Amino acid sequence: MSKNIIIAIDGPAGSGKSTAAKNLAQKLGFTYLDTGAMYRTITYLSLRAGVVDNRDEVIKIAQNVKLRLKTDNGLTRVFANDEELTEQIRTPEVNSKVSEVSIIPEVRFEMVKIQKALGGSCNIVAEGRDVTTVVYPNADIKIFLTASIDERANRRFKEYKAKNSEISFEEVKANLEKRDKIDSGRKVSPLRKADDAIVFDNTGFTPNEDLDYLFEKIKEVLSIK
Ligand code: C5P
Repeated sequence: MSKNIIIAIDGPAGSGKSTAAKNLAQKLGFTYLDTGAMYRTITYLSLRAGVVDNRDEVIKIAQNVKLRLKTDNGLTRVFANDEELTEQIRTPEVNSKVSEVSIIPEVRFEMVKIQKALGGSCNIVAEGRDVTTVVYPNADIKIFLTASIDERANRRFKEYKAKNSEISFEEVKANLEKRDKIDSGRKVSPLRKADDAIVFDNTGFTPNEDLDYLFEKIKEVLSIK
């Protein structure tokens, strides 16, 4: 039996990883894995329980939750113990705490365990901060996606505006800068480019242009016609 194919994409917040990974997964007929959604879910549950600053309690949540991710029409739907939390995990409150939760090694251990198991069971396009370096170091294709801070902040700002959020551009940009700093500076699994990753700075590119560029690269590597 042929081995499963793993396409791994890392990059900072707002680099377009989710859109690119979803589009690629759809085009290739692979399963899409949004690892950030998993860390967001643990963060949301910890916030709701009022324990987000209590490390031991956050770890307990990560160890005991039954997580399920499902992609529906390009949207990642997230379920924790069968409760749908798709909307709740994408708020400014979760954004402002998620990097602190994902710094906890025991939380990462639990999430990586689930991610590795999925990678062994089907063809996937996975995206996150450590999927090219820690989760799937032997991925068939590794991509490091990035864009300028202003472009990334602008993309997120537009998403908030579409949801009628009152947040300002400056607040969105400051949150991204803070997350970039924590995600890249942490000791365990920091965001960094894998030595053998294809780097793609998509500043000024549309999602369709991202998809075309990445699909060409993938065709080269996988020799798809
Ligand atoms: O990709 P997204 O912005 O949804 O990720 C939210 C946060 O989850 C990141 O800022 C990072 O702190 C954390 N994360 C992580 N490792 C991953 C994916 C996300 O630490 N593989």
